[in-house]
Amino acid sequence: MNVTTPHKITRRTVQFRPNSRNLFFHILTACNLKCAHCYINPQQHGTTTLDEDTIKKWLALFSRSHGSKAIKAVEDTNVIFLGGEPTLNPALAQGIKEAKRLGYASITVDTNGYLFHDILEKVTPDEVDYFSFSLDGSTPNINDPIRGEGSFETCTSGIRRAVELGFSVSSIFTASSKNIHDLPNMPSLLKDLGVSRFFIQVIGIRGKPAKGEGQSLQLTKQVWESIVPKTAENAAKLGLICHYPTVFLENDAKFECAGVVAENYFVFPNGRVYTCPLCEDYPLHAFEIKEDELVRRPPLTEMELFTLKIPEGCVMNKLLHPGNLTYDSNGNPVYKIACCMLKEEIVANPLLG
Ligand code: SF4
Ligand code: SF4
Repeated sequence: MNVTTPHKITRRTVQFRPNSRNLFFHILTACNLKCAHCYINPQQHGTTTLDEDTIKKWLALFSRSHGSKAIKAVEDTNVIFLGGEPTLNPALAQGIKEAKRLGYASITVDTNGYLFHDILEKVTPDEVDYFSFSLDGSTPNINDPIRGEGSFETCTSGIRRAVELGFSVSSIFTASSKNIHDLPNMPSLLKDLGVSRFFIQVIGIRGKPAKGEGQSLQLTKQVWESIVPKTAENAAKLGLICHYPTVFLENDAKFECAGVVAENYFVFPNGRVYTCPLCEDYPLHAFEIKEDELVRRPPLTEMELFTLKIPEGCVMNKLLHPGNLTYDSNGNPVYKIACCMLKEEIVANPLLG
């Protein structure tokens, strides 16, 4: 497929699915890189590297149903192994095999591309649905100042190796004021590398950015809307499936908080379990793992905040990132901020003539 072939572009908002849940499983917080936008916060998330036994127990825990929305079974649960850099954990391969054995719906590994402990040799494409590589620029000149010297070369080599071995590969681009100008160059690079899915995400002001230059890294509505949808469409025309967060909603659009209507667990090695990623810099986690059981924490947690209804949409955005909002002369918000878990999916099908 190429850009000159006419296409039917299918654009859909991926609503939270009532019959699925996601386990974002941080199996350590250590990492060999020091990315400018890293959201990992060891003060809040600990410095433990989970051992094989604990990983297996926690996978078993989340393969069961929990809570009042407990319609879920392991076959409706997607697990995403994260870090830090998850391949630095020598127990990752065994964790993947255990998730497969337990019957998780899909298994993804998010990696910075360094692929430690020969992970590609220890698991098979039957066991991993996607290796998802983080790349924040189409050249070393753009990517490496953000992610670290040599990381472009290592990451793209890792992608090539994974594709050669038959793994499905996706790529994540974290857009900020440092690299948004380069986003339009990403689809052709990813296509050449053999990547099949492209996730564009917006920089979050948490972890390291919250302590430093975060606000200056944020993107305006105008910049986001002038670059991201068009790039996603071009990626789709090249045959990639592209996802990006909705971010901005018209005032009359329906707003839903994933913390209320969906089931997402962001699990950290110190046992904290959040249901909203924006809360991760604070001890607001709704659950914790105690003696290998999932325990609901008493108020005040993120759960109580989710129920507040405000015209600006996402409560946590209003509390933590008020710079994302704009008000008219009457003090009314000009738009709403969508839940950060709400995504647009862009796919192109060639028009056969
Ligand atoms: S690779 Fe991921 S975990 Fe490591 S520093 Fe970068 S953003 Fe943080
Ligand atoms: S990002 Fe906002 S809308 Fe989404 S779960 Fe968190 S608080 Fe709710």
